[in-house]
Amino acid sequence: MTEEISPRERLEIVREKMANAARGVGRDPDDVCLIAVGKTFDAEAIRPVIEAGQRSFGENRVQEAQGKWPDLKVQYPDLEFHLIGPMQSNKVKDAVGLFDVIHTVDRPKIARVLAEEIVRSGINPKLLVQVNTGEESQKAGVFPKETDDFVKVCREDHGLTISGLMCIPPADEEPSLHFALLAKIADRLELPELSMGMSSDYETAIQFGATYVRVGSAVFGERQAHKHG
Ligand SMILES: *Cc1c(COP(=O)(O)O)cnc(C)c1O
Repeated sequence: MTEEISPRERLEIVREKMANAARGVGRDPDDVCLIAVGKTFDAEAIRPVIEAGQRSFGENRVQEAQGKWPDLKVQYPDLEFHLIGPMQSNKVKDAVGLFDVIHTVDRPKIARVLAEEIVRSGINPKLLVQVNTGEESQKAGVFPKETDDFVKVCREDHGLTISGLMCIPPADEEPSLHFALLAKIADRLELPELSMGMSSDYETAIQFGATYVRVGSAVFGERQAHKHG
């Protein structure tokens, strides 16, 4: 069925649902940014979504992003890129060069290497800390109880500006509990940005205060290969 719907129509449906979710809780729809997650899709699959007016795109792997975005960036200079997957320290330089927002700052070593690269390059991406709200061993992110200390280390030891928090709730749990927890921690730390909500739960995330939703399959259709979720 979904194959018969064009990318433009899918995008319109998502935008409409986002706006309704925001208005339903008295929020301005313009305060929520849709990140279209293009992982596993090539430039030709992404182009129609750009042509339909989408400007913010997310990738979970630095290397995959490097393979397809630089050319599109030349053609569409106003695109904005978001790194939403875990980062190795040897990829920090590339990530800072390519992404406008990094959602996955998750350990002291990455904070240190990022700080060095930001000073060296003079490029200043917006930074979010990933929180492993479900305390899952296979997932990246700091645990909720470690978040205050980690944000403090980022700010005070490394001079980084942290703008918000990001989470990926456990697949088998009620996401709203995790969204509420992330919102509470962000509120306590006075962090304005909340990156939460994917294709299955972005409306709920908006009800709980998401300022970024990361939506892949609802925009692009089902992914073929099962790479990193
Ligand atoms: C793939 C991915 C998404 C988008 O997932 P969908 O369920 O296709 O919307 C969002 N966030 C992260 C971190 C991802 O890796």
